[in-house]
Amino acid sequence: MSDRTPLIVGNWKMHRDHLEAIQLLQRVAYHLTEEDTDGQTVVVCPPFTALRSLQTLIASDRLPIGLGAQDCHPDAEGAHTGDVSVPMLARLDVGHVIVGHSERRLHHAEDDALVARKARAAVAAGLTPIVCVGEGEAARESGRAEEVVLAQVRGSLADVEPADPAGLVIAYEPVWAIGTGRTATPDDAQQMAAAIRGTVAERYGAATAEGVRLLYGGSVKPANIRSLMALADVDGVLVGGASLSAEDFALIIGHGRAV
Ligand code: PEP
Repeated sequence: MSDRTPLIVGNWKMHRDHLEAIQLLQRVAYHLTEEDTDGQTVVVCPPFTALRSLQTLIASDRLPIGLGAQDCHPDAEGAHTGDVSVPMLARLDVGHVIVGHSERRLHHAEDDALVARKARAAVAAGLTPIVCVGEGEAARESGRAEEVVLAQVRGSLADVEPADPAGLVIAYEPVWAIGTGRTATPDDAQQMAAAIRGTVAERYGAATAEGVRLLYGGSVKPANIRSLMALADVDGVLVGGASLSAEDFALIIGHGRAV
């Protein structure tokens, strides 16, 4: 059993306007028991437009749920139309920020160097970056999954120096498992997580690597959460589709903790 605090993150992607987001978070909270969030961290990442509303809801109802963002710009301010900076997120009590999600790598041509700049900006502002990595189907089928993922880990952490290991999270999300209903087998997820932790150890030393949390993402559901959370090197999950159902997300949180 490690000392790492389990982390369950819901990525709402481009779903729910701010009124719907309030409703969804209230329903998630309604379905949670006090024990469900005891000893683990739960974070939701709504679209930017809902952050302020959820900040207010979380604070006023003292919900045991943290706020995360789905992306950020590496600069603190500037002529970057459409972007949002980390200091702006910090002002909204956002504690985590996803960087390098495969949808951003694919649709916005984000490379490891840009992901590393975003992760550095997050760390500098005291936020925890959730650095996403994952191989595509072709790499998995040709036996190059580990090579591809570990190269992404090295590139996406370039010059990233977290003050403490708990301030860095890496999410392994095989691209072929995102939104497809297909999940990596527990053996494959554990093997990759262990390889990532090994690479983190090469980069920061064994003690830091022991404290960095590794998440699995890709079609996580109430039915598969237990087998994933039971893995030695998987410390939590990044949940897309299932986090849009209050009932399913609450079940994932509850089942994950029970392991
Ligand atoms: C994700 O978008 O990070 C994700 C894992 O999505 P899903 O759970 O829907 O596969």
